Amino acid sequence: MKELTHYIDGAHVNGTSGRFSDVFNPATGEVQAKCPLGNNEELNKAVEIAAAAQPAWAATNPQRRARVMMKFVQLLNRDMDKLAEALSSEHGKTFPDAKGDVQRGLEVVEYCIGAPELLKGEFTDSAGPGIDMYSMKQPLGVTAGITPFNFPAMIPMWMFAPALACGNAFILKPSERDPSVPLMLAELMEEAGLPKGLLQVVNGDKEAVDAILDHPVIQSVGFVGSTPIAEYIYSRGCANGKRVQCFGGAKNHMIIMPDADMDQAADALIGAGYGAAGERCMAISVAVPVGDETADRLIEKLVPRIEKLKVGPYTAGDDVDYGPVVTGAAKEKILGLVQSGVDQGAELVVDGRDFQLQGYEDGFFVGPHLFDKVTPDMDIYKQEIFGPVLSTVRAGSYEEAINLAIDHEMGNGTAIFTRDGDAARDFANRINIGMVGVNVPIPVPLAYHTFGGWKKSMFGDLNQHGPDAFKFYTRTKTVTSRWPSGIKEGGEFNFKAMD
Ligand code: NAD
Repeated sequence: MKELTHYIDGAHVNGTSGRFSDVFNPATGEVQAKCPLGNNEELNKAVEIAAAAQPAWAATNPQRRARVMMKFVQLLNRDMDKLAEALSSEHGKTFPDAKGDVQRGLEVVEYCIGAPELLKGEFTDSAGPGIDMYSMKQPLGVTAGITPFNFPAMIPMWMFAPALACGNAFILKPSERDPSVPLMLAELMEEAGLPKGLLQVVNGDKEAVDAILDHPVIQSVGFVGSTPIAEYIYSRGCANGKRVQCFGGAKNHMIIMPDADMDQAADALIGAGYGAAGERCMAISVAVPVGDETADRLIEKLVPRIEKLKVGPYTAGDDVDYGPVVTGAAKEKILGLVQSGVDQGAELVVDGRDFQLQGYEDGFFVGPHLFDKVTPDMDIYKQEIFGPVLSTVRAGSYEEAINLAIDHEMGNGTAIFTRDGDAARDFANRINIGMVGVNVPIPVPLAYHTFGGWKKSMFGDLNQHGPDAFKFYTRTKTVTSRWPSGIKEGGEFNFKAMD
């Protein structure tokens, strides 16, 4: 059995806590590796090393730091297939999806190459007699991040790339379900020229997370994961005086207006609802057709498309639409929620409950499901399912549709499909959700914009990547200096004249 490690002070280090968690091959259900679960001592050691390494890195000019990012981008491209292979084997997502995971992280690294420009301060000449005023953005020191299983390459890079570009040290606590890629990324950063001790990986579960939250030297904590854990980390981290940003779960609605191109809407729902087995925080899990006629037309278009979906292991080729979910527990949770939908009276139009894949009977595959006539009181509407299950809630009018999304406690992403510019504009303006698509089902902002939800999908003030990341990972210092000009007499400064 392969035993994974931590990555501390530039080296792979075995776990010392004696606690491990299983890392599965989700396609076969077999345990393929053991992930060490870090403890206080391991975290303390990493923090000590990070704190010793960080001042010299902060003093390294931003252009040199950016060059490390540039080299890292080259190495990510060089090792793209290797990273995607490791990612698919632990996560289960298809090979093209795994490459997309690396690619979207890489784009944030590219953005961080702009650090010299992004870190420039402000200057006011002659704010008063002989007085200049300037502000500078300085790194925080030792920073940390806790990441989820569903994007094991992209989300760590969202955090450590800007943190390091700003001159911080970063300690990553990745998901214990797929920790191999984060370890590979830490190695690659050092190959790119990052001095050791600046990017370290401490694997673990709640114990390692609590050690991060309570460590007085750690200045900031970034978190991405489910809402209950996001709330917990936000309150404990803030109570300990840290700067904290936590991104939580989602329940993304897509509104389909009667005038929408129904083929385009159905295609969009297939990708956004079932892609990556629904294990995306930006997945569409609720379709809201406006009017019964729209709903009937939509369902008619969706059913044959869903029946054509190819579910399989990533090794079966690039035409596989989605793979297994991450663990047996995730599969059970999804099927439990599907059963609750049936029990609570929703209409299960496509039933994937008996799905079996020959040769992979023990894998964590879940067939696609489509519900119609879901109502807001049902658990499948209220809870995040995080699986290949799309719920249709029929709305009588546009107002009813927008209010559904407004009233839901989650606010990560949403979309409207329409040909009506007025409706689209009204929707984008009034909706209380952080990322909005107009005829775009998964409106993930690119690296140079910022990513973040509202309501219970986000706790904190600053978003991920884009300009917000450079604010999150720095603090501003403003200097007011007075150098009164001496009056020169005979070529010499007359300091008396300055009094
Ligand atoms: P999770 O909350 O179970 O785990 C996330 C991280 O928290 C992991 O590193 C895990 O080890 C740690 N953790 C788990 N339980 C903990 C506890 N009790 N105390 C302290 N730490 C704990 O989430 P997940 O299942 O890995 O990821 C899926 C979730 O992440 C979904 O809810 C999804 O919507 C969300 N997500 C959100 C975004 C976003 O940007 N808003 C992006 C991706 C995923």
